[in-house]
Amino acid sequence: MSRYTGAVCRLCRAEGTKLFLKGDRCYTEKCAINKRNSRPGQHGTKRVKTSEYGIRLREKQKLRRYYGMNETQFRRFYGMASKMPGQTGHNFLQILERRLDNVLHRMGFGVSRSQSRQIVRHGHVLVNGRKLDIPSYLVRAGDVVAIAEKSRDIVLLKDNAEVAASRAIPAWIELNAQGLEAKIISLPVREQIDSPVNEQLVVEFYAR
Ligand code: SF4
Repeated sequence: MSRYTGAVCRLCRAEGTKLFLKGDRCYTEKCAINKRNSRPGQHGTKRVKTSEYGIRLREKQKLRRYYGMNETQFRRFYGMASKMPGQTGHNFLQILERRLDNVLHRMGFGVSRSQSRQIVRHGHVLVNGRKLDIPSYLVRAGDVVAIAEKSRDIVLLKDNAEVAASRAIPAWIELNAQGLEAKIISLPVREQIDSPVNEQLVVEFYAR
């Protein structure tokens, strides 16, 4: 399945929650969830009875859309998480957080995850001093993620410092004084991840 390229606010409305897919607009009153919080489409305002399966499906879709992934890769990450020791749900969230595009977003670059992904794809990011343009690369403890010297003006120009500053840097990422380089001091634990989902329902969806 290819990546969704349609109107992203529809995705938030379908899930009934803010997924922060649009950048600056998500932090304003213009956000579609603030203005019109009903499911998209002609029958969006009708009440529907959701089955147990439907509840789990929606939770899975919410998490997948939050990280902007396609189903194949998302399912592959779940497979990795299920083989790791410990709780599958926590492992799954940890793997999703370790994606390079997400780390960049958490560092404050890119007003949305899709913009953070673009910054990576365009070769503006170094990992341990080497250019890495794969958004799905999973960072490890000790990795150093930085904006390439030659790209700093471009990336800072595109970025919205106000929006970036409103996002707290999680404790597992240590940003340097200039804010252009970060060290992964440890892998994130559940308490450090603010994804708007009940990951147990996602595990139940895939384990059915
Ligand atoms: Fe979602 Fe952002 Fe659109 Fe609001 S503005 S509905 S948070 S994508």
